[in-house]
Amino acid sequence: MRVEVAVVGAGFAGIGMAMALRRAGIESSVVLERAASVGGTWRENTYPGVACDVPSHLYCFAEHPNPDWSGLYARGDEIRGYLARVAASEGIVPRFESPLLGAEWDADTERWTLRVGGPDPVEIEASALVLACGRLTEPTIPPIPGLESFSGPLFHSSRWDHETALDGLRVGVVGTGASAVQLVPELARTARVTLFQRSPAWIVPRGAFAYTDADRARFAAHPDELAQLRAALDVEGEARYASRSGDPDAAASAVAIARAHLEAQVADPALRRELTPDYDFGCKRVLLSDEFYPALSSGRARLEASALASVEGSTLIAASGARHEVDALVLATGFASTRQPYADLVRGETETLAEHWSQGMTSFGSTVVSGFPNLFVINGPNASLGHSSSVLMIEEQARYTARALAARTGVLRVDPAAEAAYGREIDRAAASTPWLTGGCRNWYVDERSGRLTLLWPGTVAAFRERLDTADGSEFLPTPVKRGTS
Ligand SMILES: Cc1cc2nc3c(=O)[nH]c(=O)nc-3n(C[C@H](O)[C@H](O)[C@H](O)COP(=O)(O)OP(=O)(O)OC[C@H]3O[C@@H](n4cnc5c(N)ncnc54)[C@H](O)[C@@H]3O)c2cc1C
Repeated sequence: MRVEVAVVGAGFAGIGMAMALRRAGIESSVVLERAASVGGTWRENTYPGVACDVPSHLYCFAEHPNPDWSGLYARGDEIRGYLARVAASEGIVPRFESPLLGAEWDADTERWTLRVGGPDPVEIEASALVLACGRLTEPTIPPIPGLESFSGPLFHSSRWDHETALDGLRVGVVGTGASAVQLVPELARTARVTLFQRSPAWIVPRGAFAYTDADRARFAAHPDELAQLRAALDVEGEARYASRSGDPDAAASAVAIARAHLEAQVADPALRRELTPDYDFGCKRVLLSDEFYPALSSGRARLEASALASVEGSTLIAASGARHEVDALVLATGFASTRQPYADLVRGETETLAEHWSQGMTSFGSTVVSGFPNLFVINGPNASLGHSSSVLMIEEQARYTARALAARTGVLRVDPAAEAAYGREIDRAAASTPWLTGGCRNWYVDERSGRLTLLWPGTVAAFRERLDTADGSEFLPTPVKRGTS
């Protein structure tokens, strides 16, 4: 099979990319997806309480507003359904059950050769390759001594075992990140939860509410109102950047809000102390919840304010020395975000992407990489956000990619100097942010280099401007081929 562009992944990034290719008039493309349906994150994460934590009207494509969101924060299944509807309405039909097994740049043909597995294996030749494989896909399983000896059901939050009924059981939950604060209150309604907390999160009020039928009818009847709402949410989101990025006044105000939230919801001063972070606001992802603290303060869920240190059969032993008997164990321990499995699969002119990124992910424009001609990575290096919707970043990257592909006159090879300069820009912008200086360990920083490699250290508007000002000089001049003039 031969196509102009192969896109790998059918989450927001892959679907957004396929849309942008169409808009640019590039019809010859294929979207490869290893699973049997679209959705990515929202197909894989089905734990109780799963929902987005940026407003739904901002967590969707600008070109596909959705008047039907159920509330301020949509549930995971709604988001998955939304993506399926967008793909169908755009006529995007991914090739499902088609995992990319390997991709190599062929210097002779100047094309990518893709090996695709699954029930219907195929080799694909493509001029350009877009990796839209996600960044929160590989569960982190912590190396806890004795974990393999655990005698009951054990699974990661992103691989929820819906066959196992946890009602009435004693359930250990490890981790206090974004997934844990959503699932613990839900689980604690019917199970007896013990939560292992290595370090607490800054948590601010969520203020979730449901839209009424009248709201939805109004949004459907007045698309301009919906567009205005999205614009207002965008402004609100961008304003949050200051508090997450180290502006001392904005951070102080945000800390005051988080502390007041904790005080209002947790009466016990000892529990409050255990739930108060000892690092700067924004250093780890700031969480939104109105239900997490009440689950703990009511005693429905019990806090073990130390890490899970080891496991002996059904006994969970905390770093504090406390022993907890449980029937089931849920690992809400996040994802391997700095080392992406797709990097091992892709070989450019001289090395694999994993080799190129051996000290952490690098790029120009968070999207293109030197040594990897006509390759684009969406939602990869320095493309995540701590303050607003990832979809906004994906839309900008897809636009940049489609623009570069439509305008190219030859092979797009990134100038290594442009990649290095972009890395320095990132380092300068990140230097004084809490992600690097806030006194915590977070998944935005690569442990091998100590560099901020996941997050874009700026607003979405700044990212848009950065990509808009990329004038093509990030690519090396195309050599004139012998025999042509
Ligand atoms: C629980 C959870 C909640 C989140 N909430 C928010 C939120 O509220 N707001 C926000 O902005 N972000 C949130 N995120 C981040 C979220 O991942 C992004 O917003 C967005 O969904 C990422 O889209 P994506 O397409 O880049 O990646 P994904 O959704 O991960 O999709 C990648 C796709 O690529 C496929 N794939 C990977 N490797 C291969 C291969 N080798 N071959 C073929 N296919 C492959 C995968 O199967 C998957 O379908 C959340 C993440 C998680 C885990």
